[in-house]
Amino acid sequence: MITPHITAPESFRDNFNAVSEAGKRNWFYPQKPKGKWHNRRVAFTAIILTLLFAGPFVKLNGQPMLLFNVIERKFIIFGMFIGPQDYWLFGLTMLSFMVFVVLFTTILGRLWCGWACPQTVFMEMVFRKIEYWIEGDATKQKLLNKAPWTSDKILKKGSKYSLFLLVSFAIANLLLAYVLGVDELAKIIREPLQDHLALFSGIAGFTALFYFNFAWLRDQACTVVCPYGRLQSVFMDRNTIAVAYDHERGEPRGKIHKGKERPEGDCVNCFQCVAVCPTGIDIRDGLQMECVNCTACIDTCDSIMEKVGFETGLIRYTSENAIVNKTKKLVTPRVIGYAAVLVLLWSTLGFVIVNRSDTQTSLLRAPGSQFIENPDQTVSNLYTFKIFNKTNHIVNPVIRLENVEGKLVFAGKPDLRLDAAGMVEGTMFITIPKAKLRKRKTVLKLSVWQGNERLEGFETTFLARE
Ligand code: SF4
Ligand code: SF4
Repeated sequence: MITPHITAPESFRDNFNAVSEAGKRNWFYPQKPKGKWHNRRVAFTAIILTLLFAGPFVKLNGQPMLLFNVIERKFIIFGMFIGPQDYWLFGLTMLSFMVFVVLFTTILGRLWCGWACPQTVFMEMVFRKIEYWIEGDATKQKLLNKAPWTSDKILKKGSKYSLFLLVSFAIANLLLAYVLGVDELAKIIREPLQDHLALFSGIAGFTALFYFNFAWLRDQACTVVCPYGRLQSVFMDRNTIAVAYDHERGEPRGKIHKGKERPEGDCVNCFQCVAVCPTGIDIRDGLQMECVNCTACIDTCDSIMEKVGFETGLIRYTSENAIVNKTKKLVTPRVIGYAAVLVLLWSTLGFVIVNRSDTQTSLLRAPGSQFIENPDQTVSNLYTFKIFNKTNHIVNPVIRLENVEGKLVFAGKPDLRLDAAGMVEGTMFITIPKAKLRKRKTVLKLSVWQGNERLEGFETTFLARE
């Protein structure tokens, strides 16, 4: 039986239930969840994990569909390559993503946390399942932890932590596959260990980090480390849909007494919703930062309601307004405002992506240089140039003058071949017949080509005698 710790309304907010009054960690032993919502989450987890593990293997036009190479600042998002020169595009994508998260949270609360966040998915659907499988339900786990170190306990703990380590290793490799790509990762695995010591240390480090997270940190990753839960009170309002206790229907709570008329509400004060909660909270206290919307309390409360013959749904997905005022309103002025910002950002992003060129060239007159009048009645200007390859494949660019007849003469023998996300720079002369120049300053239109494909157009200025 769990003793209620709430002594006065809102007083629960003065304590952090993951830490005892003595300042020690409160280790939670949530009961095994089961029910309709849990089954739905299991099915959804199967989809999420399949997508997550298949993600690095999916390729579009010969390159990974998703790549997050933070080391070289190269990203591929659904086949779109974002290199170091596209930091603003990356920023715009991230900004759109953040506004989307705000809009999503305003409407659907922490649906992401409960259903799709890798922390919850791995913790509740992988590591916790292993724990239940080896050590049994909450009571058995508690007893095992208190028991002396017998061969049975050593075997159980040894198997559990070995499996934890194995899964952590798999997640570390998955992370690396998203950072480097599967081809690069496979190459590294095939090559001698001493050639990639830093990378293997990285895998070992991340394995240790994931192991620490899922074996020890657990709920505190959501309640102490993750900033998203702390921001929910800013994003959510009285119309937000979240896992909530219907206090109008449930209060005043009270035990059920057979054969006696019941003046209380529908909550029979069984504390099963607390016993099943992985973050150890009592949802009846209202919206709390610790609630990851895992739905475990919905299932357990529904099973209690069925047992006592009351209607299910005392804890359910609903909003505060739906509970108190019986009104559901998803489209509020706030939602419209966020949606408008998001549409604007996505339109800008779409426009930028459609008009994005494969190369980015800067061609500037060399500082301090003057025009040169040649004996053959032509004029030359000296330029410095830089060409960035914004794709993830090799580009062989050719620069052409578009609006004036003239020629480009490169200093030395420049190799304009651009590696993936590479850059080439150099100097060159542009030479134009005097007869074609009517002004002191002429705007030149140039373009970059690869074969028959025009990659980019840009302008520069050309000086001559008036
Ligand atoms: S599980 Fe339902 S009935 Fe039991 S304490 Fe929680 S809200 Fe009340
Ligand atoms: S209160 Fe309910 S939904 Fe929230 S974390 Fe606890 S069990 Fe999950």
